[in-house]
Amino acid sequence: MEPEAARGRGSAERAASEIANRLQQAGHKAFFAGGCVRDRLLGLKAEDFDIATSATPEDVQNVFPKARGVGEFFGVMLVYKNGWPVQVATFRKEGPYTDHRRPDHVSEATVEEDSARRDFTINGMYWDPVGEQLVDFHGGEQDLAENLIRAIGRPVDRLEEDHLRMLRAVRFAARFGFQIEAGTEKAILEHRLGLAGISKERIGEEIRRMLLNPNRSIAAGFLESLGLAESVLGHASSGWDNANHLDSVNGSLPRSQYATALAAWALDRGLDVQPDVLASNWREQLMLSNVDRDGLRDILKIKGRLKREWNDLGVAGHKRLASLAWFESARSLLGVADSKLADQIASRVESLRPSGLAPPRLLGGAVLLEAGFPPGPRFSDIIEAVYDAQLEGQIHTPEEAMGLAKEIWGNPDSAN
Ligand code: ATP
Ligand code: MG
Repeated sequence: MEPEAARGRGSAERAASEIANRLQQAGHKAFFAGGCVRDRLLGLKAEDFDIATSATPEDVQNVFPKARGVGEFFGVMLVYKNGWPVQVATFRKEGPYTDHRRPDHVSEATVEEDSARRDFTINGMYWDPVGEQLVDFHGGEQDLAENLIRAIGRPVDRLEEDHLRMLRAVRFAARFGFQIEAGTEKAILEHRLGLAGISKERIGEEIRRMLLNPNRSIAAGFLESLGLAESVLGHASSGWDNANHLDSVNGSLPRSQYATALAAWALDRGLDVQPDVLASNWREQLMLSNVDRDGLRDILKIKGRLKREWNDLGVAGHKRLASLAWFESARSLLGVADSKLADQIASRVESLRPSGLAPPRLLGGAVLLEAGFPPGPRFSDIIEAVYDAQLEGQIHTPEEAMGLAKEIWGNPDSAN
């Protein structure tokens, strides 16, 4: 549950403290819960502060009349404080899970019961911001100190309840540079095929978060060694040994660059043979957007073309490739296996840049039609040939462009 990117006054932590304080004054228990407690203890800036409380949704509404329920999540209220959205969830214990996804029912509970339904010990702690006290039933603080991802309760049971927790374990282990505790790891290995039953949206979201994170190659390593990558993607790796494309992608990536990380992952798995097929498979398996699917496909295609064609192309061909949307991602991934060629391409592009990699066309279809050229198969060939001449610096004005178009038209063998 991530709130919108809304940002309020003061700190989010301050806003959440004030909410907890008000709930406590009204006679309820109220704590920071889950990820924000973990992040605070790690000295990291928490992304969002969630509150867990003994107050029922009606109680919360009484204290904060403007609070409203959060869509599909039973017992979760959204309270705005100083402009910050804070989720306030009533303690709950969850009933049996029959679809390995959402519990069949939830009911009001104590904080200890609330902690027992959470996934990992480091995610199962509470912080009382008023009394300044940590509430930790499962040894989360110690596991945090020992860098361990450990399931709360019996790992096998907890993974069976929700197979997505296997991916969450990997995501947290990679993100924090932790190990997965032996019992939890064993349970993941036993249940790895269970991911098949999880919705692709949820799987896709976990994978996206792993791959946008700077520790993406650690995450991919876990996915491979735990046998989860094959479950997630529906096919085995054909070359994990040479894995370093993901390593070459540095830092955290914006969402718009997801395709770059996907392409790196595909290359690490030795899967760049058929970009179209691969991208449409992954789109289905990971519920990629069309933009991400196209990006993945194009990066792999461009990389292949750079490798095969670059050395044989002239100025126009270089400029056309260099101005493609995913060129830089493709070039940089090419550099993992062939840094000499990638560097050569980079300096060539820099030298071409001053004369324009993708200048506006001197001659377009409309002008050509107006001049009486009949639409037909040669029409676009002529337009492209004229643009090549422009990119090569052979023509500089619309008049020269038209002159060249007429010349080509008169010599059918010269277009192409
Ligand atoms: P992040 O910083 O990535 O958001 P987080 O720990 O806050 O990490 P969320 O997915 O926001 O993760 O969930 C908030 C809390 O809810 C978790 O810390 C954990 O206690 C609990 N939780 C979330 N998903 C699950 C799950 N699938 N099973 C059990 N508990 C979960
Ligand atoms: Mg969170």
